[in-house]
Amino acid sequence: MLELEEAIERILAAIPPATPEVVGLEEACGRFAVERVVAPLDLPAFDNSSMDGYAVRGADTTDATADHPARLRVIGRVAAGASFPDTVKAGECVRLFTGSPMPAGADAVIMQEDTTTDPHEPNTMAALTGVQPGENVRRQGEDVPHGSVILEPGEELTAGRLSLLAALGMDRVATGLRPVVGVLATGSELKDPGRPLTPGQIYESNRVSLSALTRKTGAEARVYPIVCDTLGETRAALLQALADCDILVTSGGVSVGELDFIKNAFEEAGGELQFWKVAVKPGRPFVFGRWQQKLLFGLPGNPVSAFVTFLLLVRPALLRWQGAKDVALPCSIGELSDDLVNEGGRRHFFRVCIDPEGRVHSSGLQASHVLSSLAKANGLVDVPPGATLRGSSKVRVLRWE
Ligand code: AMP
Ligand code: MG
Repeated sequence: MLELEEAIERILAAIPPATPEVVGLEEACGRFAVERVVAPLDLPAFDNSSMDGYAVRGADTTDATADHPARLRVIGRVAAGASFPDTVKAGECVRLFTGSPMPAGADAVIMQEDTTTDPHEPNTMAALTGVQPGENVRRQGEDVPHGSVILEPGEELTAGRLSLLAALGMDRVATGLRPVVGVLATGSELKDPGRPLTPGQIYESNRVSLSALTRKTGAEARVYPIVCDTLGETRAALLQALADCDILVTSGGVSVGELDFIKNAFEEAGGELQFWKVAVKPGRPFVFGRWQQKLLFGLPGNPVSAFVTFLLLVRPALLRWQGAKDVALPCSIGELSDDLVNEGGRRHFFRVCIDPEGRVHSSGLQASHVLSSLAKANGLVDVPPGATLRGSSKVRVLRWE
């Protein structure tokens, strides 16, 4: 049985380098850069004002106070988006606004609130305080100098990074292509929700969670019909889905029962099993295989096992496929309210709730078929084999919401 880290390593080693896809910025949020991007210009591109006010030569205002204002001649006005043709000389100023380019000759901006004007003297401004050279001026290149690196391959295209790209004049960015991920459930007992059950049947509940988690990574999910537990049907369903998709995620049929057909069907379909079983709870029976350039993740059928193994083992693969560098689940630090006890021999990922104050408690029963505690959970805590994490100790909570 593989340890979790080794399983993740082997899965990531099988992921091909991301295929670049250049997309408009509007379509890029949440995707991953696949190329280094350097600033094609300075940001700001020119010195400009950070205030509504007047461009001045700071030296002209040195001794100005409300009682003894410095009186300067207004030689013009420059709006944001315009430019000023002349040079400001001693004793002169130019009316300007936030974002207006600094006129030549001026070295500071005095904000409007620190000035007065008199309607009888429209060409004069009285400065009520002094400003130092550079004050209220945004310097060319102070934010991002031309040629500096603004994006590295593998970084997520967050809203903030997209704003920076746009500010630098870029309207598109190279991202990793999103994989098409097939999501398929096996089990003769399964029925589509919304239909009446016959005795012994249960509603199929994995495809909706697995496709939702797939889409959260940015990948495209394609959901397939329920597959009955026969070797022939399973093989045919796998072949079809593998032909259509880049990655196939199945649930059920990976355990040791004689009605668990995924492994056999996959091999009969020409697939190559890479490993089976990972030392985690919930979710030990887990299959990873390759079929030509495509990947199979065979998840256990128990809904919580399928969910948790997806988060631990499939999610990283879907992110890396798209070029992501950091594929670990985000984590928060919290304080346990009660003990978490793992009496078993495998790492147990407990379903927990972490509240906004950072208090962490079990979200309920931890058996792998129990969905009520999964529905309440917003995190997982990794409890080592045979260990007890004591109430009031600090723990790392893995998050996916
Ligand atoms: P299996 O991994 O196929 O042995 O299934 C383990 C348990 O999970 C059984 O109780 C199944 O009925 C249940 N199960 C399997 N697949 C699903 C599914 N897609 N939705 C809900 N329960 C399932
Ligand atoms: Mg089954």
